[in-house]
Amino acid sequence: MGGQPLYLAPRLGEGLRSLLESRELLHTLTDGLDSPLNLVVPDQLAANLQQFRSVYGRRHLSGQVFFAHKANGSSALLRRLAATDAGVDVSSLGELQHALGAGFTPDRITATGPKNPEFLWLAARTSVTVAVDSRDELDQLAVLSGKFALPRIRVLLRLSGFEASGVRVLSRRSRFGTPLKERQGLLEAVERYGDVVELTGVAYHLDTTSVTEKATALEGCLRVLEECRSRGLRPSVVDVGGGFGVDYLDDGEQWERYTTELTGAVLGTRPPLTWGGYGYGLRNEGGTLRGSLGLYPAHRPVAGPRYLDELLAHPASSLGGRPLAALLLEHLYDLHVEPGRALLDQCGLTLARVLEVRETESGGELLVRLAAKADDIALEEHGVLMDPVVVPRDPARAGAGPVAVHLFGTLCLEADLITRRTVFLPRRPEPGDLLAFANTAGYCMDFHATHAQRQPAAHKVAVWQEGGAWRWCLDDQYWPTTSMGGVGYDVGGAQ
Ligand SMILES: *Cc1c(COP(=O)(O)O)cnc(C)c1O
Repeated sequence: MGGQPLYLAPRLGEGLRSLLESRELLHTLTDGLDSPLNLVVPDQLAANLQQFRSVYGRRHLSGQVFFAHKANGSSALLRRLAATDAGVDVSSLGELQHALGAGFTPDRITATGPKNPEFLWLAARTSVTVAVDSRDELDQLAVLSGKFALPRIRVLLRLSGFEASGVRVLSRRSRFGTPLKERQGLLEAVERYGDVVELTGVAYHLDTTSVTEKATALEGCLRVLEECRSRGLRPSVVDVGGGFGVDYLDDGEQWERYTTELTGAVLGTRPPLTWGGYGYGLRNEGGTLRGSLGLYPAHRPVAGPRYLDELLAHPASSLGGRPLAALLLEHLYDLHVEPGRALLDQCGLTLARVLEVRETESGGELLVRLAAKADDIALEEHGVLMDPVVVPRDPARAGAGPVAVHLFGTLCLEADLITRRTVFLPRRPEPGDLLAFANTAGYCMDFHATHAQRQPAAHKVAVWQEGGAWRWCLDDQYWPTTSMGGVGYDVGGAQ
């Protein structure tokens, strides 16, 4: 098998662990609804929201948590969230319609991202807050407002291009938002359109794991808010976007060992760990390691609400060095966050049936073909390396193990690899077994799903626990009354 197995075991909360132990249910569901199959856990989303809320509570901050809808298209998740006090961040016409239809009132919705006229119109018509990306977008809103006699539109100004004063820390380039340098023109437009738009605050969203970069941006926003106030505007919101991250792996040592061995494999000091010697961004140039590892930092102990807390504790170097949280509190600013991935932590899994298990000619490794396409399980696409869990069809027939396998999809395409790395499993899978990919709710379920080769997209099922047993329904048939209406359910826990 080429040495010791290098496991990357998924971190499993109580809910997912219990689901994975429900072998018969998982097989019944995939027998009936086919493979691949996505399971979402709406109640977990509500629990995650509470974790974010408790950070606000500890730091005495007010403001709103907006779920970034784009991370998962599920109706069940959205409707369950509508039954809490959270908001939702939508980035398309379809997502806005979905949110309104799920029960979110416009005061709980923010519209972000690239916006076409229909999206802008519906947002403005329903009095949803619009996170404005540019001067141009403000102009468009003003035109729409005049033409359709719309109510005054609440706007956030999304900014980018923050720079730490003194220190050479530049935030990453973004396609979105108005560069900080160009804020003058933007603020003048806000003033000129005073009877059309109401400035509620400023925003940023940075796709980075760096707390320092985000702290620099937050600090920049605080300074812009002061500027606005000195001009007589009255914005009070700082929206810090998303990107709080998820801790995917159970064991940091496994992650360390794996990445060390991957480096060795690229340098040729150990047998390959990937299909075709793929290096995930690393390469061997005459015995020297080059490039950088293009992977998600799958072991991230400080992720989600803890990451938010760390950001808030970060000192604002240009504002007296006090923690950002203290400055927000002192000015009575509302803190808005837009977590996508982090709110979906532990909120779902993807099941795929094993169709074929074949020995390679050289022996040692197994080729495992799954009833799923790479796009159905987009962990690899997001650089998340994490082992699936084998859910046997017949638990009595314990296959030998451990084994090293390569996971392939059903497309007639060499590139349809579920993952390019060699996956080590504690037992040999058999045709008919299921492989369960945990924690796929954030971006890895439906964001990349296609109908290639006229293969159907995966069904989605919502699951919840009632009286110690798991219950389910099709995603689209789920409403909060479905799981929260049972006798004895503590509706006080609805948040
Ligand atoms: C995608 C996105 C988010 C969510 O990002 P995560 O990394 O999933 O937390 C939040 N805000 C905006 C504007 C986005 O585009």
